[in-house]
Order: sequence, then structure tokens, then C-alpha cells
Amino acid sequence: MEEIYLDKNENPFNVPEKVKKEFINYAKDADFNRYPEKGLPSLIKKLAGLTGFSSENIIAANGSDELLDILIRRAEGDIVVSSPTFEMYSFYARNYGHKAIDVPLRSDFSLDVNGILAQKDAKLVVICSPNNPTGNLIDRESIKKILDSGVTTILDNAYYEFSGEDYTDLIAKYSNLIILRTFSKAFSLAGMRIGYGIAESKFISEIKKLQAPFYMNILSAKMAEIMIDNYSLIVEKIKYIVEERERVYNEIKDIAYPSSANFLLLKKDLYGYMEENGIHIRKLPLVKDRSRLTIGTKDENKRAIEAIKKYVMEKF
Ligand SMILES: *Cc1c(COP(=O)(O)O)cnc(C)c1O
Repeated sequence: MEEIYLDKNENPFNVPEKVKKEFINYAKDADFNRYPEKGLPSLIKKLAGLTGFSSENIIAANGSDELLDILIRRAEGDIVVSSPTFEMYSFYARNYGHKAIDVPLRSDFSLDVNGILAQKDAKLVVICSPNNPTGNLIDRESIKKILDSGVTTILDNAYYEFSGEDYTDLIAKYSNLIILRTFSKAFSLAGMRIGYGIAESKFISEIKKLQAPFYMNILSAKMAEIMIDNYSLIVEKIKYIVEERERVYNEIKDIAYPSSANFLLLKKDLYGYMEENGIHIRKLPLVKDRSRLTIGTKDENKRAIEAIKKYVMEKF
């Protein structure tokens, strides 16, 4: 039985053949001996085009993890997170000796706005939407209430492309907001480490000062550019994954929460059971009795659905 990996919210598809060819052509004659052009202006320009912002509103990075690292480092104080959420926020907080104050999501996974606003000493609020691992979008009115308080806020939007919700219009109104996105999920480039942030230009220039001048290697930067040029090919894959997400959810509704991302939160810890069936899903050590299933190809999803249905019949 072939092992399948539905554990890291990766895209089940490798990059399109056309993209691979263009990339290999570039790599054949690349100037490996030279440093990247400082600040990677050509990549930044393409990201600006992709998002409809200007270059001064964009920072690119070695994965959105690098931006989380920089932003949490510069926070100089406590940060607020809302569990269950992406564990890297508290990882970086710990690394820099900051306290990560947890204001947990409510039982319907909505944001506890008043709980967050009560944290008067917090220097940074991190909101993840769609949230990993719960999969739900955070309501824009709640986000605005946090932003209205003036606190610096990260909106981690790693699953944006699967969600149908765009928060970037908030940037014109809120200079305390940065939206983080990544090429690791919808763009099939987890292995290349490419992320970016969008914010008001003053905010962007502040964080650029904290970033090394040669933050990304030339191959990753070029791959990101080629991907942006071929965005229509990505759109097809996103559509496939969103359709599959809805199909899988409908098949296993009894045991899964709805999702606006490329994964489903399961209402049971099926990690061990799925492992026995050769299906790797994400164990959530900090979330009792839950686990997370990434949406894969139709064939992979079929296997996951069959295993989960068998579990529901026998044990749920
Ligand atoms: C996957 C993921 C990221 C992506 O991080 P990269 O460093 O860009 O690969 C960021 N935030 C969340 C919540 C994620 O799930």
C-alpha cells in the first residue's frame, strides 16, 4: 500500500511542466557566482502586479516564516495569539524571550475580540485567517476592531488563494496592519521558501531595515517570478483543490469542520488510525481529540474518505 502524505497542507501537484521548463532554462545560464540583485526589485515588481499594490507596499522573504521571525523579533514585548493556531508564532516569541499571551478562539472558532483588546501591554497581535488548523475565516469586523485599537497586527493569510476572502483593502485604512502570504501552499513551492508581506509603505520600509540585503537565493526568486507569469495555471489547481475540499467535507461532514483553506480539521484524533492505513495526517499535540487532514489529489482523497468512513462506522 502506497503511503500518502496529507499532513503538511502542501499542494499535491508539483509545479506545471511549462514552469519547470522555463525555470530549467534560466538555471542553465544563471550567474551562480553573483549575489542576487539587492532587494530583488524584479520579483517585488511582479508581486506588486500580482496583488495590485505598488512596490513600496511589498516585502518578499525566504518563506513567510522569515517575516514572522522579523516581525516578532521587533515586537519588543508580549504578543497575542489565539489558539488553536499556527505554532510558529509562539515558537518565535519564545526564541526572542517574548511572552505569547493566548486568548483562545471561542468554541465556534471566532476571535475573542474583547479578550484581545483587554491585553493592554501587548505589542503585537497575530491573527491567522483562514486559521490553521481550524480552517475558518476570521470575520473582517472583528479584525477591524483589533486594528482600530492601533496595535500592530499581523494577518497571516497563507491560505488566501483557497478562501475567496481578500483583506487587502484594509491596508489603505490601517497603517498598523501587515498581511502575510506565501508561495508554499497554492503555488506548489513549499520547497523553494518564498513568502511576502503587504502593508503601508512606511511599515514596509521599517521591516526591510531588519532584513538581510540578500535574503533570497536567485533560483527561488526566479521561480516565484515565473510562477506569477503563469498564474492562470495555478488558478486551475486552486479550483481543483477547493472543489475537492467541498467534496471531501460533504463525504465526512459528521467528523469534520467546514474549511476555507486546503485542509479540514477532524473532530477526532485519527492520527494513529490513519497511519495504520498508510495515510499521514497531522497530529495536533496541543489540540485534544482533533487532527488535521490536507486535501490531496482525487485518488488520495478517495483513500482518506474510505478510511475515515470506515472509522465512523466502526468507532464514532
Ligand atoms: C504553511 C503556513 C505558512 C507558510 O509558511 P512559509 O514559511 O511561507 O512556508 C504560514 N502561516 C501558516 C498559518 C501556515 O499554515
